[in-house]
Order: sequence, then C-alpha cells, then structure tokens
Amino acid sequence: MQDEELQRSYREQIPQLLSELAEAAKQWNKTPSQESFDQFFSKVLDISGSAEMFGQISIGTVAKSLQSEMSPFFRSKEIPDKSLIKRINGINEQLLSMMQQPTGDQNTNIREVLFKPKVIDDGLMHILVIEDDPKLAVDIKHKLSSTSFEITIIPNIAQIQPSFKDNTRCIIANLDDMNDKQIELLGNIEEVRSSLPLIFISDDNSIDARLKAVQAGGQAFITKPVDYTQLLQAIDSLTERQLVQKYRVLIVDDQKSLSDYYSSILEEADFEVMSVNDPQINLMPALTDFVPDLILLDLYMPYCNGQDLAGIIRQMDNLLSVPLVFLSAESSTDLQLRAMSTGADAFLTKPVSPDDLLLTVQSRIKRGRAVHDLVTKDPLSGLLNRRESIRRLDEEISRSRRNDTPLSVAMLDLDHFKKINDTQGHAIGDWVIKFFSRSMQKIFRESDIIGRHGGEEFIVIFPDTEPEAAQLACKRLKKYIKESEKDLPCAFTYSGGLAFAGGDESSNSILERADVALYKAKEKGRNKVITATDNPRS
Ligand code: GH3
Ligand code: MG
Ligand code: MG
Repeated sequence: MQDEELQRSYREQIPQLLSELAEAAKQWNKTPSQESFDQFFSKVLDISGSAEMFGQISIGTVAKSLQSEMSPFFRSKEIPDKSLIKRINGINEQLLSMMQQPTGDQNTNIREVLFKPKVIDDGLMHILVIEDDPKLAVDIKHKLSSTSFEITIIPNIAQIQPSFKDNTRCIIANLDDMNDKQIELLGNIEEVRSSLPLIFISDDNSIDARLKAVQAGGQAFITKPVDYTQLLQAIDSLTERQLVQKYRVLIVDDQKSLSDYYSSILEEADFEVMSVNDPQINLMPALTDFVPDLILLDLYMPYCNGQDLAGIIRQMDNLLSVPLVFLSAESSTDLQLRAMSTGADAFLTKPVSPDDLLLTVQSRIKRGRAVHDLVTKDPLSGLLNRRESIRRLDEEISRSRRNDTPLSVAMLDLDHFKKINDTQGHAIGDWVIKFFSRSMQKIFRESDIIGRHGGEEFIVIFPDTEPEAAQLACKRLKKYIKESEKDLPCAFTYSGGLAFAGGDESSNSILERADVALYKAKEKGRNKVITATDNPRS
C-alpha cells in the first residue's frame, strides 16, 4: 500500500479517536479515579503511538507531551495536583482541537530533504566545475572527461544556476578564486544545502582555508597541484558511483499493516524492499533469494520471536555480517539490551517515525557495506580483491555446470608497466591502474566480474559467455583505451590470456591456462589477447 493511502485511512479514523478521547477526559474530570484516569491515559497512548507514524506529526508531538505529563500517574495511587490537572486539561484541549483539523499533507518535505534518492544510475554523471584559471580548467576537464564524466566549467559562481542539469551529481570549486561572500553564496545554494557533494580545490592548506570550506558545506578538500587519483576517489566516495545496486531491506513483521507502512517509507527513499509476514513459511526463501543488506525484525511474533530468528540468520554463512535491526513496542532498556546481545545492531521502538527508520536503516547499511567492501575490494581500483574474485570464480563455475552455460575467464596484464612507473612516477602508475579499472567496468557487461589479481594484473570472469564473445569484449576495451590516449597522462596497452571453463576443472587450473595464454601474448609482442587452445570443451 502506498504511503498516502495509509495516511488517508488513518485520517479517516481520527474522528473516532477524537470522540473517544474527549469522552474519556470528560469522565475523568467528572469522576476522578484511578480507573477513569487509566482509561483516559490509554486513549492518549493510542494517539501518541500512531499519529506520527501516519504523517500527523503535530498531533503526535502534542499527544506525546500529554503522555509524558500523565505517565507518572498511570496505574499509580497518586493523583495529580490541581495545577497539574489544569495543565493536563490544557494540553488535551489543544490536542482535541488539532484532531479536528488533521493535516492533509504529511511530513514528506522533511523526508525529501534528508533523503534524496540515492544516485544509482550508471549513466553519464555531470560535474560542475567552478574554476577561473583556464589552464587548470582545461586540465580538469580532460582528466575527468576521460574517466567518463560530463564536465561543465564555469569561471565563477554567478553562472551556476543555469548550469545545473538533471544528472549533476557533484560540484568542484576553486576556493582561492572566491571571496567570503561568494563562498557563503555557494554554501547557500539549494542544491548544496540538500547535500549535493561539494569538493574544494585550494592552494592554501591552512586550517583557515579548510574551515572556510567546511563552513560552506564542502565535503572534500584537495590541495594543488591536483592529484587526480585523489580527486576521483573523492568524487567516487561522495557520489557512491560504484554503488549500482539499490539498498535491499527485508522486513519481518507479522502485522501486514506495519510492514506495509515501513516498506512504503523505504521504497519512497529508493530502497528495494521485501516483506515477510509469516516467517515460518517465507523467511528461508527470502533469506536465500533476496540476499538483503539489512533485516528489520519484529521482536514479538506469534509463532517465533525475533531473537530466535536472529540466531537462525546469524548461522547462515552469507548473512553473518548483515545488520539486524529489531522493531518493537518494548521500550524497556533491559529487554532491548537482551535483544541486542543476540547480535542485533540497533533497536527501534514503535511507533517508528519515518526519519528514524530511514536514518537507522541507511547508516547501518552504509557501515555494513563498508565492512563488506573492506573485506572484498581492492582499495586502489575499487575492483574485487584476489580472494573475492577467486571465490566468485568458484561460484560461477558451479553455476555454469548446474545450468550448462558457457563461462570464459581472462587474465589481463598491463604492458611494460614497470617502465611507466620508472619514467612517469608511481602516482601516474596508480592513475593508469585506476583508469584501466574504470575502463573495464565501462566496457564489459554489468554481469561480468572484475578483480585485481595483483599489482597490474587483473582477472575478468565472463559468465554465460563463449570465448569468441569474450575476445570481442577485450577488443572493445583495447579500442576504448586507444581512443582515450590523447586525454591520458601517458599511453599504455595491455595483454591478455583467455580460457574457457569446461568439464570439472578447478578454478586454479582455469586460471593457470589463462596465465599461460597471457604469457604467450607477451611473447608474441604484447598488446593482444590470446585464447588458450587446450580448452577442455567437450
Ligand atoms: P610486462 O609487459 O611483461 O607485463 O612488463 P611489466 O613491466 O608490466 O611487468 P613487471 O611484472 O616486470 O612489472 C610490473 C610493475 O608493476 C612492477 C611494480 O612496481 C608495478 N606495480 C605493481 N603494483 C603497482 C601499483 O599498485 N601501483 C603502481 N604504480 N605500480 C605497481
Ligand atoms: Mg605487466
Ligand atoms: Mg605483471
């Protein structure tokens, strides 16, 4: 169900809640007793526990303040004194009058500002550069364009508004060109305020300059001369360009209306969501097929409790590091702690506000993915590391056997790379490795798996691909690099060996044959890719 529908159906219930609350308050005022007080209090709880969740923020806020005034006397022999009674009635009046006019529009504005949908396209990303030194401007344009960004250079901030495009994902600005007024203006531009990444470049490495940058909303600071590997890393991490996959959340809650509510919030923020309302039937398939980035788990369900489920999830190999977030109306810290001890990462108390839900889920997933990346990725290139690429190769070998689909594997190695390092320096060498990695990501299919096997050696796994098609892909890569040459700090080529997986050969043996073919390519003059002829195809 959509967010709006949920909120509408809640709005329809408000008159009923309103009359019940008014009646209970009247009774308590007429015959003050523990019973009438508790009855009144339970009506307040109904509202404070639900209003905010369904978009009635101000009603929720007032109901909560009433709740906190009243709660010390709930199920207590003590009765509030005169002035407190007056206060309770006053707040209640305010609540009742607000409930007569529930807001039609929700707090979606708040949410939109906090959680603009993530940049998940892998299309061309537009970067706006504010730089008045024409030489540096041209340099930035060349270096960044060659790594497949679309660049617009403007000399100063005056022209910024008309230069924004739908796919603008980042602003790079030269801090030294700007006076304080301009820096302030830049920081106040709506796009920057709603967290479009801003990177400053400066000659000045002082704390003062850095402080200015931070105050203007700058998220990265790069000193001149510009190290382009560093600049690219900043763009990557700020725009999360490498994240092609949406965040995936699995919701386990026996109450469908609640899981609908959570999923509508998460989906609006561009998460991919799957809900399970009957865990005893549907949980296992969801865990294996959906492979969530995070699991939201109701603590109390009729057939099994969330803690037991957490135990089961933690026993599954591929879900060991998946963040678990418990959801419950239980606000006792003691119980929360006990729940956390079963390996949960966070605890959200119902009613959960949209912002709390999004903040918690997003931050846990980010950290979870960061940990996962640390273990599986190579930091320089952003490609899979050696261990992870071999694990993936093993996985693909079994898949190809199971489904009887072809599988090709390539070992690629940069030619005379030592010479590039020796003549151009290590930084340019690193730049070439990064550029080559990006080129592979750009040219090969999304389903192809690319890893850095060691220094300047790479492994590419082509699932569902005959060696002839893999050869063609390598040719396209060669062409692309050749065409980019004019924009690169130095020209380079690569050689490769291709092997076709077949029979019941191990990953080791396939890689060895690819390596032998690579060696042949080097022997035969480099800048070519050779397919191993000893493929055990039949
Ligand atoms: P060939 O064409 O036969 O492959 O020659 P080559 O010079 O590329 O091969 P060799 O194996 O002799 O040298 C590889 C060089 O790559 C040596 C090493 O210093 C360099 N290298 C390895 N890892 C990195 C890295 O992360 N960054 C940089 N800049 N250089 C690296
Ligand atoms: Mg080499
Ligand atoms: Mg080598």
